[in-house]
Amino acid sequence: MTASAKGTITSLGRNVRAKSGLNRSILRMGWCTFVCMLEYKMRLSGRFVIKVNPRNTSITSPKCGNVDKQNRWGQAEFRSTKCSLTLNADTLASINQLWAGRAQMLALCSKGEVTLLSWGEDEKLPRSAP
Ligand SMILES: [Zn+2]
Repeated sequence: MTASAKGTITSLGRNVRAKSGLNRSILRMGWCTFVCMLEYKMRLSGRFVIKVNPRNTSITSPKCGNVDKQNRWGQAEFRSTKCSLTLNADTLASINQLWAGRAQMLALCSKGEVTLLSWGEDEKLPRSAP
């Protein structure tokens, strides 16, 4: 995510200054500090954080399970090559990460490590992760 945007001698990068500023901002953020504080605050409120592997969450169709780089139509659009599901790419990744988290939660429940009280007021029980 923080790769340089400079490009090469024959192919110069675009928006180098803006990308450089974004990189500094991301690196300054201190993700570890953020995650530690989030886990602390969640524990205080009787909840916990589930970390999920983001791999393929932006190229996987939550409808048919199709994993294909061709599902991405540019930076912002996802369109499944199998079922034609079309979504904003960020929305899609969020849905897939939610399902991955719920799958981990169900695994913990089945081992008896946690007890699931509720998914929330209007939510249905999760299906299996794609
Ligand atoms: Zn699909």
